[in-house]
Formats: sequence, C-alpha cells, structure tokens
Amino acid sequence: MAEKNEEAPAEKAAPKAAPKKGKREKRKKEEKGIHSIYKIEGEKIVRLRPTCERCGPGYFMADHGDRYSCGHCGFTRYKHT
Ligand SMILES: [Zn+2]
Repeated sequence: MAEKNEEAPAEKAAPKAAPKKGKREKRKKEEKGIHSIYKIEGEKIVRLRPTCERCGPGYFMADHGDRYSCGHCGFTRYKHT
C-alpha cells in the first residue's frame, strides 16, 4: 500500500491581495435629531415638535405633514389646521 504522500507546499496560499473596497458610499447621517426638535430663541428653548400626550413630556412626536405621530406608543394626532 504505497500511498503517495503528496506534501502540499505550505506556502501555496499565496497572499492574494484582497481588493479592498475602498470608499464605501458614505451615508450621510440624517439630520434628524435633537437639533431639529429644539430651537433656541434668544434665551429660551422652543420645542418644535409636540410631545406625546400619552407618553408624556420627553417623547416627541414626528411631524408627518398633516399629523404627528409618536414613535414610542404609536399615538397619532392630527393637526388641526
Ligand atoms: Zn407616545
């Protein structure tokens, strides 16, 4: 039983230069955050969004054009225009 013992050269795994995916499309961070909620007018802070009446102050509601909705509890309030 002459089994051929083929020695695989250890250095066969040539360091293939992995093509680095250079610049990935930078996703611009959404400019939605605390800055879009508060506005400083003079010396006071004005809240630009209503707070959720279910969750209480601190939970702002998202502006959806004709309505506001709370991302926390899902409460939707229509704007009275
Ligand atoms: Zn809520």
